[in-house]
Amino acid sequence: QRVMAGETVSFERLVEHADGTARWMIVRLTPRLDGQGRFGGYYSTTSDIHEQKSVQEELRRANSILSAHFDNTPLAVIEWDPQLRAIRWSGRSESLFGWKADEVLGRSLDTWNLVFEDDRAAVGSMVRRLMNGPDAHATILNRNYRKDGSVIWVEWHNSALRDADGRLVSLLSLAQDVSSRIQAEERLQFMATHDGLTGLPNRIMLTERLATAMARAQRFGHRVALMFLDLDHFKDVNDTLGHRVGDELLKSLARRVRGALRQSDLLVRLSGDEFVVLLEDLEGDGGPDRVAQKILEDVMRPFPIEGHDVQVSASLGFAVYPEDGQDADTLLKNADAAMYHAKELGRNSYRAFSHALAQRRDERLGVEQALRRALKKDAFELHYQPILEVATGRVTHVESLLRWRDEKRGLVQPHAFIPLAEETGLMRDLGHWVLVAASTQAAAWRNAGIGDFIVSVNLSASQLRDSTIVSELEGIVTRTGCSPTWLELEITETSMVRDLEGVSLTLGKLRRMGFRIAIDDFGTGFSSLSHLRHLPVDTLKIDKSFVADIEGGRRAGLGGGATIVAAVTGLARGLSLEVVAEGVERPEQLEFLKAHGCTAYQGYFACRPLPARDLEAWLAKGAVPDLAAVRAPAKAKVREKAGAAPRKKVAAKKKAAPRSAK
Ligand code: C2E
Ligand code: CA
Ligand code: CA
Repeated sequence: QRVMAGETVSFERLVEHADGTARWMIVRLTPRLDGQGRFGGYYSTTSDIHEQKSVQEELRRANSILSAHFDNTPLAVIEWDPQLRAIRWSGRSESLFGWKADEVLGRSLDTWNLVFEDDRAAVGSMVRRLMNGPDAHATILNRNYRKDGSVIWVEWHNSALRDADGRLVSLLSLAQDVSSRIQAEERLQFMATHDGLTGLPNRIMLTERLATAMARAQRFGHRVALMFLDLDHFKDVNDTLGHRVGDELLKSLARRVRGALRQSDLLVRLSGDEFVVLLEDLEGDGGPDRVAQKILEDVMRPFPIEGHDVQVSASLGFAVYPEDGQDADTLLKNADAAMYHAKELGRNSYRAFSHALAQRRDERLGVEQALRRALKKDAFELHYQPILEVATGRVTHVESLLRWRDEKRGLVQPHAFIPLAEETGLMRDLGHWVLVAASTQAAAWRNAGIGDFIVSVNLSASQLRDSTIVSELEGIVTRTGCSPTWLELEITETSMVRDLEGVSLTLGKLRRMGFRIAIDDFGTGFSSLSHLRHLPVDTLKIDKSFVADIEGGRRAGLGGGATIVAAVTGLARGLSLEVVAEGVERPEQLEFLKAHGCTAYQGYFACRPLPARDLEAWLAKGAVPDLAAVRAPAKAKVREKAGAAPRKKVAAKKKAAPRSAK
């Protein structure tokens, strides 16, 4: 009807062929009109559009599938034309960046604050490589702004779409928010390079920063200082106030030290109460000294923690690149050595590294190695020094004193190796050796009927702190056939302060087993009378420094050693303890002790420490010191007073010696 009304009409039809197949055709009907416009039939043309039709169909399908995918993928899909205008903006793009499609379609990237400033150069060069070749694909991780101004980390996968002639059609971008992953990575990175308690950088960070600092210093010819900081007696804070206060102290300390430094300086917590400061680009020579001084002053101010005013001090040491070390390890080692030196010199101070120090450290290292070998080779021996009754000269004790016989060094005295053995953990083994040797000797003397004196053995702080000491001693006396009552264990005051209760418990057990207990070097530590009262102790040994000072005090008319010796003697008697004065070298000292009721003494005046054989000979001789013979002839008064003593003593000794020989 429409054709008959004069209209040209075309339509698509699936036309069936004779063989039964069907193809899409377009049929076009054109009316044939005469001069007056009257309808006189129509032309019909049919053309086969089957191929075209199926391609279109395919395309439509593909496109709708693609769009559905683009909107469903967790990635934002964005397409840019060659002028970098957005031409596709998927649903996910909207939720990722906050802009809606109609706000951004047609918008050019360079008028749009989408890329974070610091990342623009990198993004620009990536886009150029994609547009101009050679890259067809590029992945980039950068920060982007969202519509609300917040910044997110986005991972982009971009590809350039080109036509058959290689002309750029568009850039297709798939984008993904990876902020949480980056944050987790940053967090991990932070945790790996920082200390959990104080939040300060840790050793890993120090290694990195030190390497770059040294490289820079070398290039620009400046210097770098590495400073070690260690709190003095931090363990006491932990022991007395608890670990929580200790932790708070470390945190506050970190803040305070950080505050004393420049922004560019690095403060690192190495471990426990050990910190390291890296000072870059020192101007002038006073640099590290000034900083060290400032830190020491800041640390000295009390830290208010949980109602306590915690007062601490620190020891510092530093080494400077390049003169004190060319590499990180040497520099660290040398700064550490300088810090130790500061500790030795009385703490609360700082020291610069010096080559003399390095030499000393190497010597110490040599001694340590030699000590280890000596332990394996059994190169130690005990010497014995008698302790005598003041009144009678009778030998009541014999103190065992450790010696080290070294091929190179000769006979080494304990002060030259015991502190080092303590520090390096060798003292446990060495102490064990001493206990075995002393009990063996004590048993031998008793069995041979050489004497009924007690053998005194020095116990080190580390032995005392070890809770296995009780069973260790039990085993040793059993094996060596030594009765515990033949031994007296000497313990210094300083080795008890750390854990008075624990030590007191251990001593109680030992004493119940039959061992006698002596407090050594009394007066040099921190024991107060109240401590003493509760300690299971038999003997007090007055430190030799007071005995040495007896005359000094008397001459000056002041208290000095004399007062202390007299006071301690009185105190000991009040507590029914025996008192031994150590280091008696002169008759005047013995006189004084006698006058003040001190019961026993030990010292060169009577006898030096001797090897076991020599001591036996000394005992056999009954070689009791003769006051009159050694007395200083100038002191008439003392001579008079001393006159009676040696006779008495000789007599007593002569009586005593045969008795003990039986
Ligand atoms: P100490 O326990 O106070 O031992 C007494 C020290 O005074 C000994 O030094 C002794 O030789 C010395 N001495 C004795 N009489 C006199 C004197 O009249 N004048 C002077 N100036 N000194 C005198 P030594 O043998 O050098 O031992 C030093 C320290 O080493 C000992 O002091 C003790 O603390 C430690 N020690 C020695 N042997 C051992 C041991 O087997 N184990 C442990 N843990 N420490 C030991
Ligand atoms: Ca001793
Ligand atoms: Ca002593």
